[in-house]
Formats: sequence, C-alpha cells, structure tokens
Amino acid sequence: MKALLVIDMINDFLAPEGALFCGEAVRAIIPPLKEKLARFRKENLPVIYLCDQHSPNDEEFSAFPVHAVAGSWGAEIIPELLPLEHEVIVPKTRFSGFFRTRLEEVLREKGVDTVCLTGVCTSICVMDTAADAFFRNFKIIVYKDCVGDFDEEMHRFALKRMERIYKAEIL
Ligand SMILES: [Zn+2]
Repeated sequence: MKALLVIDMINDFLAPEGALFCGEAVRAIIPPLKEKLARFRKENLPVIYLCDQHSPNDEEFSAFPVHAVAGSWGAEIIPELLPLEHEVIVPKTRFSGFFRTRLEEVLREKGVDTVCLTGVCTSICVMDTAADAFFRNFKIIVYKDCVGDFDEEMHRFALKRMERIYKAEIL
C-alpha cells in the first residue's frame, strides 16, 4: 500500500514571514500537493505529515537560524494543507523523518510498502527521508512537482540522486 508523506510544509518554511522561508518559487508546489492530498484521501490511502518540531535550544540551531519551535506559529502546518482529524502527524527534530521518530512503526502498522514523498526541501529532509526509507526496504516515489528547494541546482541533483541511488521513481 502507498502512503503520502507530507514533509515540513510548515509556516517557517513556506510563509514569506517564516524564519527559514524557502522562497516564492517553492510555494508553487502547494496546489499540486493539494491535489495529491485530495487523491489519496479519496482512495482512502494513508496521509502522514512529518513536521520539524524543535525545542528552543535545539543543537540544530548552531547550523540554522531558530525555526519550527514546538508550539510556535512557525511550526504549524500551512493553512492550505491542513491535516484531517484522523491523519497522523509525526514530529521530528532532524532531517530524516525516520530519525528518532515513530514513522516506521506507523507505516508498518498501516501495511505501507511504498512511501510517496512530497514537501521541502528536496535536497535535505526529502532526500534524507528517502535514504532511510530505502534502508528499511520501502519503495519510494517522489512527485517532482510536489517537492521544492530554495536551491534549484540542489533540487535537480537530489532528484537525480534519489532516482539513481535509492531507486526512487520520480513522477
Ligand atoms: Zn529543523
């Protein structure tokens, strides 16, 4: 079974006033992602949100500006893509959605064998989540109009690398 993974579509990355805004171009992924959400929901396939959620003194802030602090506006999912009540939100503190989270358990429980990746940033959290999915023998699909990166070159490189190295299907 397929599951849609929506990665880090939160205010701090997608809103122009967000702490680590990925850029106006990245907002173009919102409408196609909204369509994917509708399709998965219609087909009763699981939708899982992966959301950065840091403590105010997280070590990650030595490399990045403070962002996605748990409980803040910046850590909230953008209003365009709000989850439904029964959909799972998996908080994470590092790039990979699998690192110190219950994502794998949630996927196995639901009988998921294929993860369909969407969200930001293609070369950071999306690619690292793809890597950990690959190591756990999940099949990977990346919807290329539903992933974005503040760096266009890294975006293209990440798509190519996920295809070649993690056998991701880029659709
Ligand atoms: Zn972070």
